[in-house]
Amino acid sequence: MSPAIDQPYRYSQRDLVEPDWTRLPGWRAVTEDQWLDVQWQRSHCVKNVRQLREVMGDLLTDDFYADLERDQAERATMSMLLPPQMLNTMVPATDGEGMPSAGRDFTRAFLDDPVRRYMLPVFSDRDVEWPSHPKAQRDSLHEHDMWAVEGLTHRYPTKVLAELLPTCPQYCGHCTRMDLVGNSTPQVTKLKFAAKPTDRHTAMLDYLRATPTIRDVVVSGGDVANLPWKNLEAFLDNLLAIDSIRDIRLATKALIGLPQHWGAPDVIEGIGRITATARKRGVHVAIHTHANHANSITPVVARTAHALMDAGIFNIRNQGVLLRGVNDTTEDLLDLCFALQDNAGITPYYFYMCDMIPFSEHWRLSLAEAQHLQHSIMGYLPGFATPRIVCDVPFVGKRWVHQVEEYDRETGISYWRKNYRTLLEASDVDALSREYVYNDPISTLPESGQAWWHAQSDAAASHAAAVDAAAASRAASVAQLV
Ligand code: SF4
Repeated sequence: MSPAIDQPYRYSQRDLVEPDWTRLPGWRAVTEDQWLDVQWQRSHCVKNVRQLREVMGDLLTDDFYADLERDQAERATMSMLLPPQMLNTMVPATDGEGMPSAGRDFTRAFLDDPVRRYMLPVFSDRDVEWPSHPKAQRDSLHEHDMWAVEGLTHRYPTKVLAELLPTCPQYCGHCTRMDLVGNSTPQVTKLKFAAKPTDRHTAMLDYLRATPTIRDVVVSGGDVANLPWKNLEAFLDNLLAIDSIRDIRLATKALIGLPQHWGAPDVIEGIGRITATARKRGVHVAIHTHANHANSITPVVARTAHALMDAGIFNIRNQGVLLRGVNDTTEDLLDLCFALQDNAGITPYYFYMCDMIPFSEHWRLSLAEAQHLQHSIMGYLPGFATPRIVCDVPFVGKRWVHQVEEYDRETGISYWRKNYRTLLEASDVDALSREYVYNDPISTLPESGQAWWHAQSDAAASHAAAVDAAAASRAASVAQLV
């Protein structure tokens, strides 16, 4: 008998369970065939408060809906879009204890639910004092600035990100591409691609043909699950015909949010054709997905992942985002990693720190917290399946959280360096010696650090007021002259 050692994390193999969708009033009569049908899932996505009420009936209180509506009006950077599969993983009630009772109890459980916290944010979730960091930006990673052609970000020396389309089957509240992806919200008017999709795709392929130092293409969006399959297959066929391309990664959260798409027979057949061609050419075609909590890994997700690998997908890797209230504990992260690795054959790969986009402060963790989590998850998973927690540093790219050069714990400012030039710095001699900055959320700082940021903000506000006053006075003088 092995000795019972008390470990900080207790591992046990767990069976996945599909939450029973008929527990929700609006889906009482939905059959399994309907549930597994991608068209049924797409046509029953929840896009607004009225549709959410239709599904949830009287489970949620009116206060919850008011909280949600206020968030949509004053904070949301992404519009609401929840496939039934995703909504069904909130308050799954699969622990044998049954559902919390309708009204206050269910609403409390719904508010506390990790998947709800990032897929359906409400106003009361947000940081009251600093809803946005003063340095937050719409395109915080400056991907747009690094476009080689429209939608093709060339940031690293040998790899590119191809944003084929600006939509997804589900919208995540913390989306880092909130600048471009999804419908406009009252807070954010989305950037629109100027060129037609086919022209953009052609320009991307032309650039890749002309740039043989690029060997790896992340085919993304948005989410490639929203591209008609024949269009995606045509793009991939063209990509596979370029000799210099050795790795192709399809980026899709839909494997988690709408697995019915990837499990559809026509898509599995198409994947089989693509991977057969890739094998002949010695190219690896992988899928990168995005799960943030173990509750999202259900039997349908696991079955679909295995079907994709049976169809020839080389590997499926998970890139989650570290989010407060969702997966900010050792248990949350390891439970998710083991559900992925043990049950779905999906390799835990990265957890990104949440980017400095507007209204994301309540989700973001400090670098110190991220470093602590990285330390705490080491040693439990196989090395190849131990995810790295990374900070996507503006103008740099992914850096492992322990690669920081300097870190001022009082102001929460961390300094980073890089070892390659992006497209923006082709002839910038200082690019590799410069320090690049990331900022912790202000609410995690000591009082002195918070006071420092208040002073910075007050100074910036006075400066802006002085600039406005000077402009008004100049305008008045000009008006007198005229
Ligand atoms: S699936 Fe990805 S691109 Fe789409 S909203 Fe979520 S984070 Fe953004």
